Amino acid sequence: MSKKGATNRQHLTISSHCNNNCVFCMERNDRKYQNIYIGNTGCKEMTVALLKKILPRLNNRKPIVLTSGEPTLAKELLGIILLLKNKGFKDITLQTNGRMLTHMDYCVELVKAGINSFSISIHGSNYKIHEALTRTCGSFQQTFSGIENLLKLKKLFPYIKIITTTTVNKLNIKDIQNLLKMLIIDRPLINVVVLNPISLRGNALIYSQHLAISYTDIFNTVRQSLSALSIENNDKITITDLPMCINDFYSGPSEDISLTDIKLNQQRLKLKAGEKSLKRKECMKCAYYNICAGISEEYIKIFGWNEFSPVITNH
Ligand code: SF4
Repeated sequence: MSKKGATNRQHLTISSHCNNNCVFCMERNDRKYQNIYIGNTGCKEMTVALLKKILPRLNNRKPIVLTSGEPTLAKELLGIILLLKNKGFKDITLQTNGRMLTHMDYCVELVKAGINSFSISIHGSNYKIHEALTRTCGSFQQTFSGIENLLKLKKLFPYIKIITTTTVNKLNIKDIQNLLKMLIIDRPLINVVVLNPISLRGNALIYSQHLAISYTDIFNTVRQSLSALSIENNDKITITDLPMCINDFYSGPSEDISLTDIKLNQQRLKLKAGEKSLKRKECMKCAYYNICAGISEEYIKIFGWNEFSPVITNH
């Protein structure tokens, strides 16, 4: 059985803009996401003044993730982080495409302001693959040097947590082994490597024919890559969003779902329901039925149900 732990993180939208143009972006070309209004105030960018207004809705005892589209584009980001730190938030993650981290001074400012965890999107081990997906020239070099800067900083500030996230799809699946080597073997100070399938909304749905890959293929590719690299310890690897009948193994510390926290999982199920999440009759026999978030309708339209078999346990 997997060893997941609930983090129950809060996500704070900082900017609705992005300086990449990812072909699989679920926020582009999706009516629900085209206009992200922050804190339901009509603003498209978080400010210190706006954060002060919505602070009572946030819990400083829970981790907070600054996210969506690209938070480093927000002019007042440093002030926002400082305010959160001064209000007692201790676990503040910046979710970023990493391009601005190419500036070491900026990395230092972020850490000094209060960021203690960075989650950086990288989608290939080289510029050809990464930039075919981000559709932004120069983005690989900036993101890559951003990760290198954080690794240098981690020697001064060992508490910094570095997480990478990769969206696995048809264009980078053959590169996953190289990417895992680059991130896990060559850079052991990276804490967690997260792999996720495309979420079939927005751009990803429009281009699904060129991008979508089955959950089983993702799981098998990761398993074979780790075996070829002789990586036995799976603690650093998380594959998100795969149901547990496919993946009950690579689910490390950054996964949100807890096997025991039914309330949290019900919230997650409701979120998934917004994407028309499905289970079939056979799922009722599955040990994970009550905590499984189901499969998106769009995924089933492409790949069908064959790969999902109920997990039967003796307990
Ligand atoms: S409930 Fe269905 S989809 Fe979910 S893990 Fe079980 S068999 Fe897979």
